Amino acid sequence: MDRPKKNDIIEVYISSVTLEGMGVARLESGFVIFVQGGAPDERARVLIMKVQKSFAYAKIVKILKASPARVASACPAFPKCGGCAFWHLTYEAELKIKRDAVYNNIKKLGGVDFPALRIIGAKSMRGYRNKAQFPVKRGRDGRLVIGFYRSRSHDVVDIDGCLIQSPRVFAAAGAVRRYIEETGESVYDEAAHTGAVRHVFAREGRATGDVEIAVVINADALKDEGRLVEILREEVPGLSGVVLNINKEKTNVIMGARSRLIWGRDEIRDTVGDVRFIIPHRSFYQVNPEQMKALYDTALRMLSPTKNETVLDLYCGAGTISAYIARRAGRVIGVEVIEDAVRLARENARINGLENCEFYCGDAGQVAGRLMREGLHADALCVDPPRKGLSEEAVKAIAALSPGRIVYVSCDSATLGRDIRRLSEYGYTLTDAAAVDMFPRTGNAEAVVKLTSV
Ligand code: SAH
Repeated sequence: MDRPKKNDIIEVYISSVTLEGMGVARLESGFVIFVQGGAPDERARVLIMKVQKSFAYAKIVKILKASPARVASACPAFPKCGGCAFWHLTYEAELKIKRDAVYNNIKKLGGVDFPALRIIGAKSMRGYRNKAQFPVKRGRDGRLVIGFYRSRSHDVVDIDGCLIQSPRVFAAAGAVRRYIEETGESVYDEAAHTGAVRHVFAREGRATGDVEIAVVINADALKDEGRLVEILREEVPGLSGVVLNINKEKTNVIMGARSRLIWGRDEIRDTVGDVRFIIPHRSFYQVNPEQMKALYDTALRMLSPTKNETVLDLYCGAGTISAYIARRAGRVIGVEVIEDAVRLARENARINGLENCEFYCGDAGQVAGRLMREGLHADALCVDPPRKGLSEEAVKAIAALSPGRIVYVSCDSATLGRDIRRLSEYGYTLTDAAAVDMFPRTGNAEAVVKLTSV
């Protein structure tokens, strides 16, 4: 068969699985069929759901020969909830998919074949997440739903538990449900843009036990904020702060610009390795603290700074990597574009007693260029850019600084591949690479690589 039609039922061989958890079957004609919930090395009868120019989507009607990697899903919400991609596979199979995705991007887009690339798996694939954002909605039948968005939709799926989520973070959803039911508080209606409670946000400090909760509301205040605090304190162990975030916009963006603290502190504290961090309400923080340590340890090992070396940490956020490497380095200079994060980076260095860190606010490429013109010599450089990777200007500035080694932490191996190619034009060679599984069961793969100047 060259190209199936919608509603055809055909037999296929699934050879691999994408990062989104889709099985990949290739027909002889080269036409690709993405099979929902497919597993590698599996034969199945599938129903064609949607046909595009060179590929189609299908779902399994019957598994004819099950993949050796297939397991029964431990999560009752999978795959209805769009959060995870791999509960139908063993963890080893998931790690291989992620490792191969990073390997292939570095090969195809970076132009470097690096078979030694390894993946660092997590010790636990359950309860690892320290943060959740639950949408709150009323179903058509009037039922209150606090849960997750259904895959690729705005329907909210009610979920009693989530295996990858910290139970204490999850308790926040139950507590807000109790508050709404008890007080008759209104719930946000997206279509009509009426009603108050939109989202529940919760984040914990794994090592300290702090839990911060933000209730996002389409209003200035709630009916009974005192009662909300009481219920949260009863039901969420370790509660350290409650914030109301005001979001009256018609938008998909969860958080609004204004927040009001109604109880406790509007920050949490956490410890990773022997480094302490303050994480304020709105600032970015890694969601898997155990793997954050694995990632930072790997970056530190690749960087291996000495006491008389200067390390530049570009895209440093709240200075978490800077603080992590500072004890081993002579001097650390962090650069970050968000002013609040820079202030926090200074604060995080201070509470750890680190006197060899400096932070600058601005675009990474521009600040790196300026530091170079001012005569800065950087022995080593660490970058941890957002998904879009490095700008052209940043690549040029890095090349001009010409550090002996570059450690690149990446949350998108496609842009990582592209940037490896760009940096190779300036004489940098890939000398070490690891994928780190920060988000077991979900389709995200983090990577950290080392480039050495030749
Ligand atoms: N290294 C930190 C943060 C990494 S996230 C950690 O591990 O926690 C990427 C950071 O890059 C964010 O803090 C973001 O604000 C910052 N950023 C985005 N664009 C930037 C730019 N052009 N220049 C400098 N920093 C930027």
